[in-house]
Amino acid sequence: MSELENDVLNLLIVDDDEIDRRLLQHYLRDSGISCRSQECSDPTEGCKLALMGNYDCILMDFRFPTGVAFDFFDDLLAQPCSRRPPVILLTGQGDEKVAAQSIQRGAQEYLSKNELAPATIRRAIESACEKAVLQREIEQRDEDLRQMSFHDTLTSLPNRRLFFDRLEQAVRDASRADRKFAALIMDLNLFKIVNDSYGHAAGDELLIQTADRLKHAMRDSDTIARLGGDEFAAILSSTDNVEGARIVAEKICTVLSEPFIIEGQIVHIGTSIGISMYPEHGTSSELLIRRADMAMYEGKRNSRAVTVYGSSCSEPEQDTLIIARGIPTAVRNREMFPMYQPQVNLEDGTVTGVEALVRWEHPQLGLLPPSKFLPALERSEHMEALTLHMLESALAEIRAWRSRDWPLTISVNLSARLLDRDDLILNIEQVLNDSSVPPECLCLEVTETGIMHSPKLAEKTLCALSELGIQVSIDDFGTGYSSLKYLRNFPIDEIKIDRLFVAGLINDTRDALIVESVLALGNAFNVRVLAEGIEDNTIWDRLQDLGCKHGQGFHIGHPMTPDDFEGWYKHWESNRKFNPAATGTG
Ligand code: C2E
Ligand code: CA
Ligand code: CA
Repeated sequence: MSELENDVLNLLIVDDDEIDRRLLQHYLRDSGISCRSQECSDPTEGCKLALMGNYDCILMDFRFPTGVAFDFFDDLLAQPCSRRPPVILLTGQGDEKVAAQSIQRGAQEYLSKNELAPATIRRAIESACEKAVLQREIEQRDEDLRQMSFHDTLTSLPNRRLFFDRLEQAVRDASRADRKFAALIMDLNLFKIVNDSYGHAAGDELLIQTADRLKHAMRDSDTIARLGGDEFAAILSSTDNVEGARIVAEKICTVLSEPFIIEGQIVHIGTSIGISMYPEHGTSSELLIRRADMAMYEGKRNSRAVTVYGSSCSEPEQDTLIIARGIPTAVRNREMFPMYQPQVNLEDGTVTGVEALVRWEHPQLGLLPPSKFLPALERSEHMEALTLHMLESALAEIRAWRSRDWPLTISVNLSARLLDRDDLILNIEQVLNDSSVPPECLCLEVTETGIMHSPKLAEKTLCALSELGIQVSIDDFGTGYSSLKYLRNFPIDEIKIDRLFVAGLINDTRDALIVESVLALGNAFNVRVLAEGIEDNTIWDRLQDLGCKHGQGFHIGHPMTPDDFEGWYKHWESNRKFNPAATGTG
C-alpha cells in the first residue's frame, strides 16, 4: 500500500509486557513503515486512548494480568470504523480460536506473537488499514442508503415514509400528554402546467424552491415533508387549535403566492391546503391524513386556498369499498391472474425470465393494477391464497414455455406479510412439486422493506426456500433502510435495484451512486443484480457501462398476457439475432 510508504503512521501499542513492547518497536523500525508509536501498558487506558487519540492503527496484546482483550475492547470495537482506528490483536500460542473470534468481534487483523517479524507486522498493518478503508466505505454507503430511504432526493425534505413515522409518533405523544395538534396536506395548483410547458427540469426547480420557502415558513419543531409529485404535508406539533393551524396555512399560501423565477421566467403558482386536527378529526395517522386530503379536495372544488376538515367534506370514493367487498370472492372466482414482464441479459439481449405481476379483472371496475387492491388484500386473510394461485398459474405457463425450449425462469412476488405463516413453505413446496418445474427455475421476490420489518422471520423463511432450491430475490432494493451487511446473513441470489434509482441514473448523482454501490456489493457478495424500470436506451447503455448484467423495464417489454408474451418473445428473439443489445420495443 503506497500510503504506508508516504505517510508517517501514528500507532498505539497496548501491551503490559515491556519486553514485548520493545521487541515490537524494534521490528517496526525494520519493517520499512515510517511510523510514530505510543505505548500503553493498561488495556482499559489503551482502549480509551484509542478512541481519543488520532491513531492510524492499534496493536493490542490478548492476555493481560487483569483479563483478556475481549474484556476491554468491546466498547472500542462497537464504534463504527469511521470513528476508531483499525485493531490488530497480538495472540499467544494456542490462541487460534481466539484470533478468529476477535475478527468476528470487529478487530481487523490478528497476529500470533510467535510469528512476529518485520515483514509480518508490515503485512498485518497494511491489511488492517486496507480493511478499515473498505469497512468505512461500506458504512458510508449504508448511511447514504439510510438517508435516501428517509428523504426525498430532490428537495432533501423528509419523504412519505419518514413523514408517517413522525405522524405516528406525534399521535402517540399527543395521546399520552392529552394534547392536540394539526396535520396539513397541500399541493401546488399549477404545477402540472409548469411541468408540461417548461419541462421536467423546470418542474424540479420549482419543487426545490417551494421546499425552501416551506422550510423557512415553518417552525423547527414542525415537520414538513414531500409525499411525492407536487404533494407536501406538515405536522404542526405545537399548534393545538384550528385557528392556529389556519394562520400557519395562510402564511404558507402567502409565501407560495409570491412569483417564482424558473429558468429566467416568472412563474405564479398557488396552493391548496387541507387541515385536520388530532384528535377531533382522527386518532390515527391514516385517518388524519385522509381527512386533511378530503379537506384539500373540498377546497379545490370551491376555489378556497385553506380548508379545515368538516361535515361538508365528502367521504372517499365508493371504489375503495367496492374493492374491499370484492376481495373475498376474487381469488376464488379467478378474477385475479398474472401478467408477465420479460427480464433480459443486458449484454446480449437474451430473455432470461419473466416476472409474474398480478392484475384484477374487476366485474364492475375493469382491469385494476395491484396498487388499487394489494394494500387491502394484504390486510385480508386472502393474501396467501392469491400468492399460491399466482404461483400455480405462473408455473404452469413456465412449464409450457420451457417445453418449447424457451429457457426461462419465473419470478413471483412474495408478500412479507406471509413470512410468519407456518404452512407457507409446505404449500409452496407442494405447488412446485405438482408443477414439475425444477426449483431453480423459480425465483421468489421479497421486498427489502418487508425483510427489514422482521429480519429474523425473513431469514428463517428465506433459508427454507433456499434449501428447497428456490432462488431468492430482494425486491425494491435501496428503498428500505437495510444495512448492506445484511446481505451476508441471507441466502440471496438476486438484488433488484428499485426503479426510482434506475430512473435517476442519468440525471441524479445520488441515484447513480446508489446504483454503483449496489453493483459493487453484488459483485463482492457474488449476488446477481437486476435493474428495474429501464425506460429507454440511454439507461440500458449506462447500466451496461456500469457492469449491470440484468434488467427489466417498459423499454424491453410491459407486463403481458401469456399470448402477448409469446408473440413478443418470438419477435424479440428473431430481431435480437440481427441486432443484439439494442432491441428495445419502446
Ligand atoms: P414490483 O415487484 O417492483 O414490480 C414492478 C412494477 O413496476 C410493476 O408494476 C411493473 O409494471 C412496473 N414497471 C416495470 N417496468 C417499468 C418501467 O420501465 N417503468 C415504470 N414506471 N414501471 C415499470 P405493477 O404490475 O403495477 O406492480 C406493482 C407492485 O405490486 C409490484 O412491484 C409488486 O410489489 C406488487 N405485486 C404485483 N404482483 C404481485 C403479487 O402477485 N404478489 C405480491 N405480493 N405483490 C405483487
Ligand atoms: Ca417484484
Ligand atoms: Ca421492484
